[in-house]
Amino acid sequence: DSEVNSENVNTFLSDMPLCMQRLMEGVSVNHHLKYGGRQQLAFFLKGIGLSADEALKFWRNQFTKSMSAERFNKDYKYNFRHNYGLEGGRINYKPWDCKTIMNKPNPTKSEYHGCPYRDLHRDELLVMLGKLGLEGNRSTDDVLDLSNRGEYQAACTKVFELVNRDNIDYALKTKSGNVDQSSIVHPNQYFDRSRYLKK
Ligand code: SF4
Repeated sequence: DSEVNSENVNTFLSDMPLCMQRLMEGVSVNHHLKYGGRQQLAFFLKGIGLSADEALKFWRNQFTKSMSAERFNKDYKYNFRHNYGLEGGRINYKPWDCKTIMNKPNPTKSEYHGCPYRDLHRDELLVMLGKLGLEGNRSTDDVLDLSNRGEYQAACTKVFELVNRDNIDYALKTKSGNVDQSSIVHPNQYFDRSRYLKK
């Protein structure tokens, strides 16, 4: 398995759940993310194996397209080092699970954190599903219905199944049926399950 670093992290986009794809899009479009988004994405990236040094490179590369290196060092570097327990109380923060993400304040219009199945308007959600190749797929109706009913993790699990359907079928045949099909409760679980299916 190739190691995740600041250069190749974008190649893992298809393994990420929608919340993280949205944050990755947010940072690559704006070259900035507000606090809630920075925390949610940074802990996730830490969980998929991005080291402290590589994380700093990733965020610096992005942010210095919209600000000077001095400003990045002054206003943001501490935050990203802190996430890895390298500053302040030196706490080894864990990636957030869905419940933690959903217990945070909801995102405002210019923010990208949270859970898209809960926070996005139906039309925006449809656009995101389209980018996953699910547009026009009858099953997207199921995803929208689940989202409407407040069953966000079920919607996320459904999307995982749709996106990975071929890999799941193949794994069921070749991995002695050893495929976890439980509900998604954690973004890193989504990622790990996706990587497992590709092995
Ligand atoms: Fe992310 Fe969890 Fe929402 Fe899926 S259900 S998009 S993993 S917060």
